[in-house]
Formats: sequence, C-alpha cells, structure tokens
Amino acid sequence: MPEIAALQPQLVQQFSQIVANQRLSQAYIFNGPSGTGKAQLAEWLAMRLFCTNVQAGQPCGECPECQRVRGGNHPDVVWLTSDAKSIKVDDIRALKAEMSKSGVEGTQRVFIVTDADKLTAGAANSLLKFYEEPVPGMTIILTTTAKNQLLPTILSRAQVINFPAPARAQVQVELEAAGVEPRLAAVAAHLTVDVTAGVAMAEDERFAARLKAVLTLVGKLTQGDAEAFVLVQTTLVPLAKTLPEQQQLLAMLALAYADALNAHYQVPLPGAFGDDATIAALAGRASRQLSDGLAHILATQIRLGQNVTFQSALEALVLQLL
Ligand SMILES: [Zn+2]
Repeated sequence: MPEIAALQPQLVQQFSQIVANQRLSQAYIFNGPSGTGKAQLAEWLAMRLFCTNVQAGQPCGECPECQRVRGGNHPDVVWLTSDAKSIKVDDIRALKAEMSKSGVEGTQRVFIVTDADKLTAGAANSLLKFYEEPVPGMTIILTTTAKNQLLPTILSRAQVINFPAPARAQVQVELEAAGVEPRLAAVAAHLTVDVTAGVAMAEDERFAARLKAVLTLVGKLTQGDAEAFVLVQTTLVPLAKTLPEQQQLLAMLALAYADALNAHYQVPLPGAFGDDATIAALAGRASRQLSDGLAHILATQIRLGQNVTFQSALEALVLQLL
C-alpha cells in the first residue's frame, strides 16, 4: 500500500495548508474510487492534528499520539466502519456516545464514517444533528465511492474533496511491481484502480481462466462460429458463479470490444489486451458491428443485476453478438 503522500500528494499538500492556517472545516466528504487513499488521508489528517512532533507540516508517524491514531485507539479519533450492508441509526447513536466520552484530552476531535453511502436515511438524519449543533474543534469526515448516493442535506453541509484516480498506466506499473504477470496486470488495471484489489484479483487463478475463456469466445464470435453459444454453458458460466465474477467476465468482454474498436479506428491508446491477435482479428470486423456489440455488452451488464440468470443473459448476448 503506497503512502498517502505518494498516492495523493496534492491533497496532502492542501490539507497541510488548511491545518497550518487553522481553516479546517467542520465536515468533509472524501469522494473517490476505492484504493485512492480516502481512509489513509483521514488517518493522516488525524495524526497531523494530534502529533506532538510535526516536522515540515507532516506528522512524524512515530510519537505516541501518531501511534495511537494509527493503531485505531486514540480516544479523540473515532471511526465508524461497518461490514454490514447498511449503517443504521444505532451505529450513529454509538458514535454519538463515543463522542460524549471523548474530548477529555484536548479540544480537537475527529469522527470518520467510511462508506457513508451505506447510511440509511434515518442514520443520515441522525448524523445531521452533528452538523446542526457544531462542537468547536470537531471534524467529521465521511468517505464514499458514490457521493451522489448521499442525502442532499448531508452533501450540502460538507465540503466535498474529490480523490482523483491514479492513471491506469501507473496502476499497471504498480501491479507488475507487486509480481503480477504483465498480460494480467494490463487487464486488471482496466478493471480497478485499487492496487491491493488488483493484486488479489490477478492472483486468483480463475481470473486468468476467465480471461482465456473470454478470448476464446471472442475468437468464435469473430469467425461467426455458432459454437460460441455452446461455450456459454460449457465454459463461461462455470467460471463465474458470483455476481461480481459475472460482472468481471462481462467487463473483460467489454474491454475486448472497446480495444477492437480503438484498433479499428487506429486510436493509439494502450488497451487492456495489448497487441493480442484475437483482438486484432475482431478489429477487422465492421465498425457498426463492434459498436453495436459493445452497446449490447453494456446493456447486459445492467440487466445482470435485475433478476436475470447469468446463463440466459449471456446466451442472449452471444446471439446478438453473432
Ligand atoms: Zn507524531
């Protein structure tokens, strides 16, 4: 996991200045894709506020205060992180109880709610009370990958900080540095900007198997071979049992068509598949077929979440692509 100063240098610089000028807002929303360092920046900010040995605007990371923040046991830094599907009113009540206990050691307090898009409407309304009765020295940070799923009342009362995703090429370099085979790293970097998630993805041997199966399917589709239809049941469906796996498989197919379209128009973009011969053959088909094919794949990705079995959705898709 890269250090936050390397991952988001501009945001670290921005918050260094905000703290130095004592202009910290009461509430922030850290918004951006997973793996862009939202929780790390929240932790960095907490360390910066409590560190007893700040050097050149940076927390030292080693003093007892920094270590307590890092260890998750600083009394004035309270995290609400839930593995459950939603964050409920009771979770916010527990957070408020923590709040009334803390603040004894200093005036500064930091509350961090991760995955704030999981807040139920009731929990969000309960959280709003924090905003309506501001406590001096209190900062609330909500992290989310989808700020548009937050209640407008929550959004409007906080300052939104957008976390830019690292460039794909950079993600690919880091995946390869972590030992992922270049061919797999290129595809994984197109599926996630989260290096940790990308490594886990590529280390699963079924990832490589799915990729191989998708390329086999693309080869059959390019030839107009009806065996493509049979491949769905015999090869593709057994390789994608869960919804995320099924979405990943469709995403790989979409990448193949997107690469082929770019190659067709000779767009010099580094694609997910490099100069793979199967993709080059697909690129030789009519542009209309490729763009319609990509549209069909994207439509199937949307349908997949809506009570359709993977097999029937994929079979219908393959018939369209043929
Ligand atoms: Zn320190």
